[in-house]
Amino acid sequence: MAVPQRRISKTRKRLRRTHFKLNVTGLTTCPNCGAMIKSHHVCPKCGYYGGKVVYLDGKLVKEEQRKKEAATGKKSTRKAKEEK
Ligand SMILES: [Zn+2]
Repeated sequence: MAVPQRRISKTRKRLRRTHFKLNVTGLTTCPNCGAMIKSHHVCPKCGYYGGKVVYLDGKLVKEEQRKKEAATGKKSTRKAKEEK
């Protein structure tokens, strides 16, 4: 219900507005370094996602792994499953 502005004291108005606040949503802590990160995103600080290093020095680690696999002749489990 509308109340005349002068009927509400400064204190009552300010006490009511103590509950008006924004809360940060969608942020979680990185399990590796503990920084606040967006959920379901690669950590921008340490490059971890899902317990694995995804980014190292601004490069995808996956590419490096592929090169190593090509050099050693080993295939990843996903490729091995697809061939079966
Ligand atoms: Zn991290």
